[in-house]
Amino acid sequence: MTKQEAAALAQEIGLGGRGIFAADDLVFMPEVRQMCEADRCGKYAKTWTCPPACGTLEESRERASAYRWGIVLQTTADMEDEFDGEAIEEAQNLQRERFQTYCEKLRAAGEDFLPMGSGGCGECAACTYPDAPCRFPDKAFISMEAYGLLVTDVCKSAGTPYYYGRNTVTFTSCVLFH
Ligand code: SF4
Repeated sequence: MTKQEAAALAQEIGLGGRGIFAADDLVFMPEVRQMCEADRCGKYAKTWTCPPACGTLEESRERASAYRWGIVLQTTADMEDEFDGEAIEEAQNLQRERFQTYCEKLRAAGEDFLPMGSGGCGECAACTYPDAPCRFPDKAFISMEAYGLLVTDVCKSAGTPYYYGRNTVTFTSCVLFH
């Protein structure tokens, strides 16, 4: 898939951002993993897509090293105020749906790609971790943060804003390609 095709597919699905970055620019940071361990999102060691189950930082780096470039994919929504939980949840669900559709279409096209999602997996009401295998491996995405990436840095490399102004919320994912 060319960069233009990847961006066109994203646009068709309603995903914003669409900045392109070089995979060599990705920096896998132990500090980001330490934020996961602090468990501010409440997902640490609770899903197959979060640390420690998603693999070590070295394994993340190794996995990504097979790819050459990536695209940033976002959903942005307006909020009534900074406490507008409804708008935040809606935007998060929309990003998850759009990202899944994007990845389904890439799979259907026979692409070899590496998806990196946004936040911990919320596909099931209760994750099977650690007692049984993941129920939906095709829908369970390891997040950019769980890969050890600082999302703001990836956006910067792609020339895509991370923040769209007061009373907006944005969820960011990315996909790496050969
Ligand atoms: S799809 Fe379900 S079982 Fe798999 S990681 Fe997500 S929440 Fe857990």
